[in-house]
Amino acid sequence: MKANPYINPVPTKDGQVLGYVHSLETFGAVDGPGIRFVAFMQGCNMRCKFCHNPDTWKKNVGTQMTASELLEKALPYRAFWGEDGGITLSGGEILLQPEFALEVFKQCKEHGISTCLDTCGAPFTRREPWFSLFNELLEYTDILLVDIKHINSDEHKRLTGYPNENILDLCEYLSELGKPVWIRHVLVPGITDDDKYLKELGKYIKTLKNVEKVEVLPYHTMGVRKYKEMGIKYRLEGVEPPTADRIENAEKLLCVADYKGYLTWKPGINTKEQGL
Ligand code: SF4
Repeated sequence: MKANPYINPVPTKDGQVLGYVHSLETFGAVDGPGIRFVAFMQGCNMRCKFCHNPDTWKKNVGTQMTASELLEKALPYRAFWGEDGGITLSGGEILLQPEFALEVFKQCKEHGISTCLDTCGAPFTRREPWFSLFNELLEYTDILLVDIKHINSDEHKRLTGYPNENILDLCEYLSELGKPVWIRHVLVPGITDDDKYLKELGKYIKTLKNVEKVEVLPYHTMGVRKYKEMGIKYRLEGVEPPTADRIENAEKLLCVADYKGYLTWKPGINTKEQGL
């Protein structure tokens, strides 16, 4: 077993890797293509101000499960997945548990199931041994959902506690490989909806060659209750969800309409029309 710098040693049961699972969603409609069974994993190093799942932050807690146990829970729902759907591993941050993700996706591929990895990208590094493990995981991953929370690294750090250089490096690496991705951007009024930065982000996404879809996720306050319950200060007190106009504006500046699928979109198309 290769060393994981985040969870070391990796827990096992009867020789099988154990994952720390926060919760399961049997009918996910917004976590990748089609209808999907989603496992939200426990543990995240970022501290996004808008995070609505602070209960996923803590590492090494949650329900321990082997990949086979996860598949056993997912397979009864297979009839709902159709051609596009399948299994998504999400978070917290799934890339803090790459060994587990690898086992799950290997087993998915044995069953012919579509695999989707939903990540904030923060654990990405080209350093070994992590990089080899990630590359192996990519062999079994059909598509990734990658959040770019802010295009400016200083602003990213203010918002999440982490700079964004390695997250952009992940995007560029996946582009080099031609691995399909959906890019997602949470729109928070006054923090991530500045036109200058949205344009910059839109331009950056256009440099990537593998983007199937770009999604603007409007900030919401549904997680506030959890902060109260957990006794954590909510740092976006008083910030309201974005208006329909601002959402539309962000979608325009991020050229959302250009991304209709890997085969139909080519880098550079419509760049001029969008004034980028
Ligand atoms: S990366 Fe996701 S889980 Fe982690 S703090 Fe940010 S929004 Fe929350």
